Parts: sequence; structure tokens; C-alpha cells
Amino acid sequence: MVRDIEAPELVAAARTGDVRALARVVSLVEDGAPQLREIAALLTADSGHAYVIGLTGSPGVGKSTTTSALVKAYRSQGLRVAVLAVDPSSPFTGGALLGDRIRMQEHATDPGVFIRSMATRGHLGGLSAATPMALRVLGAAGFDIILVETVGVGQSEVEVAGTADTTLVLLAPGMGDGIQAAKAGILEIGDVLVVNKSDRDGADATARELRQMLTLVERDSTEWRPPVEKLIASTGVGIDVLVQRIAEHREWGESTGALVVRRQARAAAEVEAVAVGELRKRLGNHRTELLDELATRVAAGELDPYRAADELVAALVT
Ligand code: GDP
Repeated sequence: MVRDIEAPELVAAARTGDVRALARVVSLVEDGAPQLREIAALLTADSGHAYVIGLTGSPGVGKSTTTSALVKAYRSQGLRVAVLAVDPSSPFTGGALLGDRIRMQEHATDPGVFIRSMATRGHLGGLSAATPMALRVLGAAGFDIILVETVGVGQSEVEVAGTADTTLVLLAPGMGDGIQAAKAGILEIGDVLVVNKSDRDGADATARELRQMLTLVERDSTEWRPPVEKLIASTGVGIDVLVQRIAEHREWGESTGALVVRRQARAAAEVEAVAVGELRKRLGNHRTELLDELATRVAAGELDPYRAADELVAALVT
């Protein structure tokens, strides 16, 4: 469908903020299209100055409502904002999912806002490679802020959210929510913990419980101490404080060098995911020949699996 479009033209158009070109490039990322190699090379020199904010938390906790409130807050500062909703399990394509959500409608006609959901239909490296690539595309298009909302709750979504420049972990008042979060390992990745739906009973207790649990996470004195903030995303109460905390985390990251380290980690995850994906693709090509031959020898007791794996890896990288 998009094979005939030249990558340089598409990238040039996306850079100028052409929404259709931008949407097309994100589709290419989803598909793991062959043009991605060229697009990635074209984007290397200037990937912009975007600041990436990840939002994660259980379904229904208010991620989409909070995203919308943040869009509004950043737009009122005159900043250009992109929203990327990452949903690996979604059968939907083409950005309909998030764009159709009612809360996002108020931003739908704002040219300073780009909203897009992304599945990872064909990308070899899955979510870990597709998301950073999409971020690079949006960054090159000159957005100031990119909000990455992970729709699912699996390990890969948590990892993706955790590699944002600032990660928000959302929780809602309720018995044992903090304990659930701790179990899922999401307290460790949160730079700011948000108790949303604070209009409901138990918000103070949840905030207290979270602060208590955070004291159990070992951090030395130079490390960032994640604040716990209450929010009512549906009315916007607390959003200014949240924006302030994000700004403080950003300043901390910039002044200590932690931001550079975080971005390097994101790049490392991306490179690794692309490399593993590439090996898997090559393995697919080799499957009937070399792997079957090695497997036959391992099954027959002629070869041990480690030496077989060494042989396979050696064959794949040549
Ligand atoms: P997501 O699945 O995490 O993206 O959650 P949504 O943003 O779609 O919100 C789920 C539901 O919670 C919706 O009906 C929202 O209107 C509601 N909601 C979101 N924020 C608040 C809040 O602060 N207070 C209350 N009472 N409801 C909220």
C-alpha cells in the first residue's frame, strides 16, 4: 500500500508536521516495513528535542483521562504535544482506538496535538523496538512533549513505560492496590506515583500506603525520590502539581545526567530488540535446513544443545 512512497519525501513531510505523513510513518513502524532502515537513517541526525512522559497502570485507573488533562495543561503552555497509545494486543489499526475515545475528542481538531495508537503488527523487535522508533519519528516532527500511554498491563508495556524520560504510575484508591503495584514491579519504575480518582474514599490512605512502600525501595541519597500525588483527572484537580513534579523530575534528570543514562537505556533496549528480531528472522530462513539438522543430531545424542546453539548463532551472524 505504501511501498511506492519514497522514504526521504515521507520523512521530509513528517518533519514539517504533515499529519498524514506522520501517521504513515507510524504505520510503517507498526508493520516493521522494509523502509524503516532508510527512515531510521534519515532521522538520526535530527531527532528533535521532545520530552517523553510514560503513563502506566491498570485498565480503568484513568490513564486516558490523565493523558487528556496533561495535553490540555501542556497546550496551555503553548507546547506541541503528541500522544502515542501503545497497545500490543489491539487488533485495531490506523489510530482509531484512541482517537475515538471521547476524552480525546476535545483535542482532535487542535493542530498542535497529534494522537495515535500503535499496535506492533509486524515489527520484528516488538514493542521494545517499535516504541522508541515511533518516538524518534514524533521527535523529529518537532513535538515538545510526547505522552506514551501503555494500554496493556503486560511486562513489555511496563518496560516501555519505564524507559520514558519521566514515568508516571497511576493507581486508584482501593484495598491493596499498592500491594498489587508492588507485586507487579511497577513501583520501582514510577518517577511520580499518581493516586487518581482522589474524589473517592480512601485516597489519603492509598497515598500513605504508597509512601510507606516506597521507603522500602532502596535508593541512595543522590537518587530521585518519587513523590506520591493525588489527582482527580476527570476534573483536572491536581494536574498543575503533577505537571510541576514532572518538571522537577526533568530538571533533576538534566542536572544529574540521569536523563542521558535513561535515554541510553532506551536506545540499548531498542538495539537489542532489533538485533534479536533480526536473528529470529534469519533463524526463520534457516529453520528447515540448519536448525533441523542440528536438532536431529541433538535428539540422537550426537551433539549437546549448547554446542548446537553455538553453531546456529555462528551461522546466523555470518
Ligand atoms: P484507562 O483505562 O486507564 O485509560 O482509564 P480511563 O481514563 O478510560 O478512565 C476510566 C474511567 O474512570 C472513566 O469512566 C473515567 O471517566 C473515570 N475517571 C477517570 N479519572 C477519574 C477521576 O479522577 N475520578 C473519577 N471518579 N473517575 C475518573
